[in-house]
Amino acid sequence: MEKIILTGDRPTGKLHLGHYVGSIKKRLEMQASNDYDKMYVMIADSQALTDNFDNPSKIRESVKEIILDYLACGLDPEKITFFIQSMIPELTEYTFYYLNLVTLARLERNPTVKNELQQKEFKNNIPVGFLCYPVSQAADITLFKATHIPVGVDQLPMLEQTNEIVRKFNSLYGNTLVECEAILPDNEICFRLPGIDGKNKMSKSLGNCIYLSDEEDILKEKVMKMYTDPNHIKVSDPGQIEGNVVFTYLDAFETPELFTKYCKDYVSLAELKKAYQKGGVGDMYIKKILFNILNDILTPIRERRKEYAKDMDKVYAILKQGTSNAREVAKTNLKEFKKALRIDYFD
Ligand code: ATP
Ligand code: MG
Repeated sequence: MEKIILTGDRPTGKLHLGHYVGSIKKRLEMQASNDYDKMYVMIADSQALTDNFDNPSKIRESVKEIILDYLACGLDPEKITFFIQSMIPELTEYTFYYLNLVTLARLERNPTVKNELQQKEFKNNIPVGFLCYPVSQAADITLFKATHIPVGVDQLPMLEQTNEIVRKFNSLYGNTLVECEAILPDNEICFRLPGIDGKNKMSKSLGNCIYLSDEEDILKEKVMKMYTDPNHIKVSDPGQIEGNVVFTYLDAFETPELFTKYCKDYVSLAELKKAYQKGGVGDMYIKKILFNILNDILTPIRERRKEYAKDMDKVYAILKQGTSNAREVAKTNLKEFKKALRIDYFD
C-alpha cells in the first residue's frame, strides 16, 4: 500500500510555535526522509469558515500568511502538493455521504470539539457546520487515501472519528477507503504546547501565541511576559518547574548545542532546573536563555519569509499548481467512491 501523508492548518491567522513543534517539524522530517510516496499539505479554509463564517476576509487574508509560513519553514513545493480545501469540491461530496454514517451523539462526544464549543461560548446556538467539522476532516484524509497524519495531540479524536467512518463505509459498501494513523512529535512536551499565559494550548483563537514571523523585539516582549512561578518573588527563593511556561518551552525547544551556546553557567538544562528549584536563579536569567534559543530558531524562518513575500505572484502560483494537481487526484478517487455507493449512474 502507498504511504501518503496529509496534514493541514486552518487559515485563522499566522502559524505559531505550537504548530512548529506539534506538526511542522515532523512534516520537515518526513519530507526529508523519502519514505513516503506522496505528501499533501492543505490549507483548511472551509473548516476555518465553520466558526468564522462572519469574517471571510480574515480567512482569505490568512491563506496568504499560512503559505508564506510553510515556505519559510522549508516545506518544499517540489516535494509537497499544497492545496486550498475549498477549491476541491469533491471533498464536499464525500462529507455529505459521511454524514449518514455518524450520529449526533458521537459528534457531541468529541473531546476536542467539546472544549472548543466551550471556548467559543456558542451555548445553545451551535452552528451545525462547526459540529460536523470532524466529518469534513474525515473527507480530507480519506479522499486523498492518506495513511500518515503528522498532527498535535488535539487531533487524535478527529483521526479516531475518521477511522470509524472508514470502517463503517467499507463494511457497508465494500473495501474502498484506507485507515490512517497519527504521527505525533517525538518529544511529548510538544504534543500540546501551552500558550505564553500557561493556561491553555497555544492557539490562534486564544491570543496567547508566539508567531513564527514575530520580529525579534516582539519575541523578546512575549518571552519577558511569560508565566513562571508566581511564588518565586526574590531571586533567592526556591522556584517551581511544573507549570512554569519558560521551562516547558526550554524542554520543547532546547537542544544540547543551543543550550551550551546560550547558557554558560550550567552544563545542561537539568542542572539549570536543579539550581532554579534550589533558589538563586532569577526569572530574567532563564527568560534570556529562552529568548536566545527561540530567536536562533526563528531568525532564518523570519528571513526566508521576507524573501518569499517579495514575490507573492510566485507564492500563489505554487498554491494554484498544487490545488490543480490535488483536484485531478480528487476527481479520480471520487469516481471509485461513487461506484462503491452505487451512484455512478452513467459510467
Ligand atoms: P485555531 O485556534 O483556529 O483552531 P490552532 O492554533 O488550534 O488554530 P490549527 O490550525 O487548528 O491551529 O492546528 C493545526 C495543526 O497544529 C494541528 O495538527 C494541531 O494539532 C497543531 N497544533 C495547533 N496548536 C498546537 C499546540 N499548541 N501544540 C501542539 N500542536 C498544535
Ligand atoms: Mg485548532
